[in-house]
Amino acid sequence: MPRKNKNKSKSTSKKSKKSDEKPKFKFVCQKCGKCCETETIFISISDLERWVNDQTIYRVMHRLELQEIEGNYKLVLIHDDDGKCNLYNRDNKMCMIYDTRPVMCRSYPLGFNGQEYFVKNNKCKGLNKEDMTKQQLDTIRNHAFEEHIAHRQMDRVLPLLYSLIFNKLIKDSQAFMNKLADPDEETKDTVTSDEKTK
Ligand code: SF4
Ligand code: SF4
Repeated sequence: MPRKNKNKSKSTSKKSKKSDEKPKFKFVCQKCGKCCETETIFISISDLERWVNDQTIYRVMHRLELQEIEGNYKLVLIHDDDGKCNLYNRDNKMCMIYDTRPVMCRSYPLGFNGQEYFVKNNKCKGLNKEDMTKQQLDTIRNHAFEEHIAHRQMDRVLPLLYSLIFNKLIKDSQAFMNKLADPDEETKDTVTSDEKTK
């Protein structure tokens, strides 16, 4: 989630704005990388769709895994042994896929619960550093809203996909076991199909 701070010069002029125009939420990422270590990064369908379209999927596919969290399966990014997200570059302290990072990372530390926005982590060092422009606030709010919708969608679709794939695997495995139990079965199938073709 770390990013370069391109907004310093704008902050001074923002201080002269009327108080009622100032957003309550103030945030400028300090690039500490803490959120890339402490947060479980949930992946949404919109992330997957974007990664297929921009071909990032080849860089992230082996970094994804299904995890059971509170009884539900979630698609998440793998973390390394030291706790860092597998996509965190320790040399430049940046995300390896910054321009197309997950929607959850774009909205951090702002969240949306369906009714109101909230701060996910009060310990984020970027909070209350500087004023944000209205455009910056709108952008992060839009990402938080998008994250809320995307994860609700994933919560509905993922269990369905999981059970469909699981059922298919069970059926395939039962068919395989039946053939192992009766080795003549395959021969019979072949004979039957040969007879049919006569
Ligand atoms: S995807 Fe990128 S921004 Fe998100 S946690 Fe991983 S390294 Fe950090
Ligand atoms: S914890 Fe906050 S300040 Fe640190 S990298 Fe993440 S968003 Fe930026």
